[in-house]
Amino acid sequence: MSFNCVLCESITGELIYANCDDFYLQKPYRVNYYRCEACGLTQQSPMPLDTSVFYDDYPIHKKKSWLFRKIQSTIMKPVYFSIGDVSPKSKLLDYGCGDGGFLENSLNADLDLTGFEPNHSHSKRLSKKLGIPIYSDFSELLSNYEGEIDVITLHFVLEHLSKPHDIFQKLFRLLKPGGIFFFTIPNIDSIEARLFGRKWHALDPPRHLTFLEETHVHAMALKHGFELKKTLHLPFPNGFAGSLPVIFFGRFRYFLFLVCFPLGIIFSRLFPCGTKAYWLVKI
Ligand SMILES: [Zn+2]
Repeated sequence: MSFNCVLCESITGELIYANCDDFYLQKPYRVNYYRCEACGLTQQSPMPLDTSVFYDDYPIHKKKSWLFRKIQSTIMKPVYFSIGDVSPKSKLLDYGCGDGGFLENSLNADLDLTGFEPNHSHSKRLSKKLGIPIYSDFSELLSNYEGEIDVITLHFVLEHLSKPHDIFQKLFRLLKPGGIFFFTIPNIDSIEARLFGRKWHALDPPRHLTFLEETHVHAMALKHGFELKKTLHLPFPNGFAGSLPVIFFGRFRYFLFLVCFPLGIIFSRLFPCGTKAYWLVKI
């Protein structure tokens, strides 16, 4: 099978996991993960051309319960960008804003908020609900904000995208000089990733396409005009709590995930490496 690294274009890769099932949503697609022998990137191969079919009924886009909101704004708070770190009136774009949870929790801050979600009907619904602009067309976003954004956040978004260089270039154009590019991604070089292997909840085939590690982020930052200022290890319970149901019952089950969630909290506090955040600045 031909391999083509989406970062360095090397054509030699080592097969890591073959025919991975969708344990989370049980979609009928099986995918392979390879590690590039030149730069070490883990990615799907072949890379899917159309990923929209993976997202029918995607829970991240659905309305959440009060309990989920509470957990998101308390226990999961460390994985989200800290809005206390920016000046009042700053322009903040949450790119790939999903269910809008982060933006909703930031509405009371004195910030100029906007979001981006590629699904047009979803972005319209979200915009109406939150009362802020949510774009689904990148050209429109760029024409309104080119060189003006102070902070761009991507919470668990990059791993869903097949062209990391493209997204770095696009976000560079939106940011002001000195602007912050903050993102969180699952860390495939972590204890929980090694412990659960192909059953690791954050592998999430077929939706997760690439797994950038710190060396890749550093190289991408240099190439695209950013400086990597900080790397953070974050305690995120979902990786551990979501993997246990798959180990015991062969698939993700929400009720069991909730039962395992306290264990996930303990594990992620003891080994806060399953998720990493990167803080870059536009030079
Ligand atoms: Zn590579």
